[in-house]
Amino acid sequence: MRTICVVGASLAGLLTARALRGQGFQERIVVVGAERHRPYDRPPLSKDFLKGAIGEADLALEAEGEEPGIEWRLGVAATALDAPARRITLGDGTTLTADGIVIATGAAARRLPGTGGLAGVHTLRTLDDARALRADLERAGRIVVIGGGFIGAEVAATARELGRDVTLVESGPAPLAGVLGPAMAHALAGLHERRGVRLITGAHVTEVTGTGRADGVRLADGSHLPADVVVAGIGATPCTGWLAGSGVELGDGVLCDEGGGTSVPGIVAVGDCAAWYDPALGRHHRIEHWTGARQRAAVAAATLLSGGTARPEPARPPYFWSDQYDVKIQFIGHAGDADTVTVEEGDPATHSFLAVYRRGERPVAVLGVNQVRLFTRWRRHLETTPAHTG
Ligand code: FAD
Repeated sequence: MRTICVVGASLAGLLTARALRGQGFQERIVVVGAERHRPYDRPPLSKDFLKGAIGEADLALEAEGEEPGIEWRLGVAATALDAPARRITLGDGTTLTADGIVIATGAAARRLPGTGGLAGVHTLRTLDDARALRADLERAGRIVVIGGGFIGAEVAATARELGRDVTLVESGPAPLAGVLGPAMAHALAGLHERRGVRLITGAHVTEVTGTGRADGVRLADGSHLPADVVVAGIGATPCTGWLAGSGVELGDGVLCDEGGGTSVPGIVAVGDCAAWYDPALGRHHRIEHWTGARQRAAVAAATLLSGGTARPEPARPPYFWSDQYDVKIQFIGHAGDADTVTVEEGDPATHSFLAVYRRGERPVAVLGVNQVRLFTRWRRHLETTPAHTG
């Protein structure tokens, strides 16, 4: 194998390139990235970077002096793939032919339909998005955040910490209900309200109003929420458009086996764009969290270098964290697999507690809220228990 091309110059792409070197691949690695930036860390974009507590240099993912011998092709997107020929077409019309390909194109923020061209409406996925939102927050008084997933909840928390008047509109029963389940999500909803965020649940935004610049949002019940800045945190979709018709099998992301191998030999996928087969769940599952990309990069590299014969470790249950105000939320497992959830330590009212989700007797997920040490013990337990579903 002489050239490996990694498409996507972010966490998953960089870590896989590093792992390829670590596993002895000494020949050519080309990394193609649609953004013009060297790999940077996204989690701070909705937290310390948005707050202005850290700068761009603090986001770098490469260690100082690190030189894994990568050829960077930044600021140009891959637009097509001829999978059998392993030939990638780039946006500038050039092509790259490789012996092995790593697909690490991540996900893109979903946009609110009909808001293109309206100033003051934001999504948050990239450094450029974060710069623009940070600049707009500086002059804004009232913020409406649409969507109470992680990004929405974190942006609401940060904007509130910056002293802005914040309304969070969520269509479900509480922020984070999709991942934590309704009971624990309700327990955490008070976190925002106690800090002065106006929380509106079970509500649908029908329109962002304004001419030229957003001046508010309209809800399905006809009410109008005035805003200087509107942030849509309504999820992300995997960046797989460039693979259409390529022969690489797609579903909700790039469909992969347990080691990241795609339907085409010599092509692996990793990170937010990839739906690896999880034998414990009995289906493909796409993880959109930092630790998923981190844990799987070395496995994908081994799959590529071994021609698919490397035996991957058993899949670990997905883990994520979220920082909101002075609260660290950590979660591992799948809430949807549980039939009960019990608070085993602390008190949700104080926002310091640990809850265990069980299917029958067996723990299938754990939520820690400002309980880092205890959560770490539970995390280890779940990661070393053979299967995480019943
Ligand atoms: P990405 O980081 O999305 O990178 C993919 C790269 O591929 C991008 O640079 C993109 O431009 C590029 N690309 C896309 N299409 C093409 C193409 N056709 N050609 C070339 N390049 C292409 N996770 C947590 O667990 N905890 C957190 O607190 C947390 N906070 C987050 C906060 C924010 C604001 C965001 C956006 C994400 C957060 N995450 C968090 C999620 C975490 O950052 C992602 O899981 C991680 O970035 C995934 O890495 P990735 O390399 O797979 O994808």
